[in-house]
Amino acid sequence: MIEPGTWSAAMGEAIELAQSPDAPHGENPRVGCVILDTTGAVVGRGYHRGAGTPHAEVMALRDAGERARGATAVVTLEPCSHTGRTGPCTEALLAAGVARVVFAQVDPTSQAGGGAELLRAAGVDVIGGVRSDDAATINTAWTFAVRTGRPMVTWKSAVSLDGRVAGADGGPTPLTGAAARAQVHQLRADVDAIVVGTGTVLIDDPALTVRMAGHVGTAAPLRVVVGSRPIPADARVLDDSAPTLVIDEPDPSVLLTGLYSRGIRHVLLEGGPTLAAAFLAARVIDRIEWYIAPVLLGAGPVALPGMGSDPQAGVDVIDVSVVGEDVRIVGSVRYEGSEA
Ligand SMILES: [Zn+2]
Repeated sequence: MIEPGTWSAAMGEAIELAQSPDAPHGENPRVGCVILDTTGAVVGRGYHRGAGTPHAEVMALRDAGERARGATAVVTLEPCSHTGRTGPCTEALLAAGVARVVFAQVDPTSQAGGGAELLRAAGVDVIGGVRSDDAATINTAWTFAVRTGRPMVTWKSAVSLDGRVAGADGGPTPLTGAAARAQVHQLRADVDAIVVGTGTVLIDDPALTVRMAGHVGTAAPLRVVVGSRPIPADARVLDDSAPTLVIDEPDPSVLLTGLYSRGIRHVLLEGGPTLAAAFLAARVIDRIEWYIAPVLLGAGPVALPGMGSDPQAGVDVIDVSVVGEDVRIVGSVRYEGSEA
């Protein structure tokens, strides 16, 4: 007999598996699974390595082999009951003879009658909601995206104490220090696409790649350049270090829906004031990760140009930290008059 405390500990291991270094973000959620035998010993482990590869449950069942019969599967997300590029996990769990399924987060993509209901109907003991808050944090952007039909948007900006993004000449100004810049590379590694306007390419010529130790082998985020101004053929964003999409789409919502259909679930907005204003006016900025540098520029463009109307957005602060000499604020954006 397995004590419920064992499930919680096993779920902790499944959550860690889900976040393995080669478990990518993107189109599919990150999922981990462990199989416990009737004594509570772990006999199988698995996690999902991205779209088109076997789901976590299938990997863990393969690892467990015959020991899965009569066992408990502990998985971070409700097993799928639909047939995607791989067969449904409910079928695999039933075929393996698993007696109990313990899961954390309810599958937000399941229509009426998800995997849990199907397993219960087949006589499996199903317990949902175990450490669901912990498990949900693994797939915040993915969950948001599949619920809304567009990627989650995180706006990254770096401003001076007087709210400016560049000096008087408007040219490139590395406002933040090395520690903050290193963090931005981690942030880029965690998203599926980085969006800038043509103006940013013309002024700053950024490569928009992930440059950090240990990132080798992970898929590079898609670079998206939005706008109608032509960009030079030798712009760094057009090099072959990552895929790039150049698109003249003035409506951020249309742009995001298009990116969703390409499997993009989390967008990092790194563009300048014009693009940020368009996204804010369309109410599609969901999170901010801002750096405030300890400098007073006195002149130069501010983070948002005069928008002509009040976007009426508030920010619920999630975290404030000192990074080197800079201050980082992370928050979720709340729009007045809408159910966030
Ligand atoms: Zn599955």
